[in-house]
Amino acid sequence: MEPSPSCQLCGGTRDTTDPAAPAWARERDEHGATRWLCPECARRHARDIEARLPVEWW
Ligand SMILES: [Zn+2]
Repeated sequence: MEPSPSCQLCGGTRDTTDPAAPAWARERDEHGATRWLCPECARRHARDIEARLPVEWW
């Protein structure tokens, strides 16, 4: 069973009881850990994320 994700930016947790909830964005960091972005943060930061260099270049 998958643990309930929390947003890496706002810390919000996904409401897994709502089947109509929009999908969360899942990312893999350089350590292979899963990071989540809630739909609001994913939308707000989509351009930042795409413009950014990969994490290993930071
Ligand atoms: Zn968020």
